[in-house]
Amino acid sequence: MAVCARLCGVGPARGCRRRSAAREQRRGAADSEPDTDTDPEEAGGGAGPAGRAPLSLLELPPELLVQIFGSLPGTDLPSLARVCTTFRRILSTDTIWRRRCREEYGVCENLRKLEITGVSCRDVYAKLLHRYRHILGLWQPDIGPYGGLLNVVVDGLFIIGWMYLPPHDPHVDDPMRFKPLFRIHLMERKCATVECMYGHKGPHNGHIQIVKKDEFSTKCNQTDHHRMSGGRQEEFRTWLREEWGRTLEDIFHEHMQELILMKFIYTSQYDNCLTYRRIYLPPSSPEDLIQPGLFKGTYGSHGLEIVMLSFHGKKAKGTKITGDPNIPAGQQTVEIDLAHPLQLPDIENLRDFSELSRIVLEVQEQVRREEQEQQQEEEEHSQQAASQPASPLGGEASQPFVLPMGVISRNEDYPRTCRICFYGTGLIAGHGFTSPERTPGVFVLFDDDRFGFIWLELKSFSLYSRIKVPFQNAQAPSREAFDEMLKNIQSLAT
Ligand SMILES: [Zn+2]
Repeated sequence: MAVCARLCGVGPARGCRRRSAAREQRRGAADSEPDTDTDPEEAGGGAGPAGRAPLSLLELPPELLVQIFGSLPGTDLPSLARVCTTFRRILSTDTIWRRRCREEYGVCENLRKLEITGVSCRDVYAKLLHRYRHILGLWQPDIGPYGGLLNVVVDGLFIIGWMYLPPHDPHVDDPMRFKPLFRIHLMERKCATVECMYGHKGPHNGHIQIVKKDEFSTKCNQTDHHRMSGGRQEEFRTWLREEWGRTLEDIFHEHMQELILMKFIYTSQYDNCLTYRRIYLPPSSPEDLIQPGLFKGTYGSHGLEIVMLSFHGKKAKGTKITGDPNIPAGQQTVEIDLAHPLQLPDIENLRDFSELSRIVLEVQEQVRREEQEQQQEEEEHSQQAASQPASPLGGEASQPFVLPMGVISRNEDYPRTCRICFYGTGLIAGHGFTSPERTPGVFVLFDDDRFGFIWLELKSFSLYSRIKVPFQNAQAPSREAFDEMLKNIQSLAT
């Protein structure tokens, strides 16, 4: 109703009076046509009575009304259809809905071919796109400490849930791998069909439930489709290889506990329903050191992990989107202190671990002192110092970089020059996230798309490379919403 009022510049009631007046006028002109409520002439009269501009939308030609209505948000159209039968009839024009599908959901598919199947664009809009709009975007599955990344997109006339998997260890620069977990489409006019895409036997019956805002769950109704001919052991091996790029033997030798957990995840992923929670991409600002976003990185023997880099004034955070039995998904794996750049040792001392260690520990001591001073100051003034964003550090000259002797890197192919280094801390913990501790380290910025982190205590190096996928519907509505999301995924993981 509000829409109609906005369009007409008059309330709906007044609009109706006008329409009756127009009808009376035509009757007076000895029009012999039977007057039905859906008189096509009404909307199709072209210009109003001679000598004046059209007063009401109803006097505009229907083609123009189709254009006007087609430019309105699809969600406003149902209330417009309730205004009068003419509006309702015009709103059944499929070009309006084709345009809404394209503009609101990016459906570029030739929607005309739908006609063959008896499905209208209006059905696609209402029963598929609008109905499932809340599941579009990025999600993290709730599978123990492991997390993960699901991207739900409109793809042609389907809504598809793609599971993104890191490339095989240690090739961080390789593109992400992805596989469909479910799809939704209109098989017939009645309603949308959800299909599970898991396993190797093609799509089969599934179910999606939108639990609440920013949370939904999926369920497979035909788990026999996930079975493989080689039996459970063969399935488990295939699953490990395809989804984690690992073999039973590696895991067995490295972490017996992890193998038990992997079995559990495998069983739940195959047989039970999964719940997903929304994640947002980090908001960016011109002051950021580099564009924030998602990165894939090496992570010791745990395989590659997905980490989200975000900027928060003088700090940058690396949050785990995928996790492991030691540090679960959602935890902050690295924190970078942008107020404390590090000067690497001279070229001749770059390989000397004790020299790097000395430099880092000095800064750690300095940070500790500053934190104490700041605390005292805060107590004295009982007010928080405004956190200023770190100043942009554009134009740094690149300097030679090489890992000190004794520091282990999964990937020997790391860049040999870097732009700038900062003091940072990395989170380490025992199995099951026991006694977590932040330990000192070095954040190394190589270029716009790559950074590294030297874990001093572990004598280990992680290399991260940007995930270059243009994710849709993943921007946080506000910085507050993003911070809230970070807090939530962190608390869920523990
Ligand atoms: Zn299934």
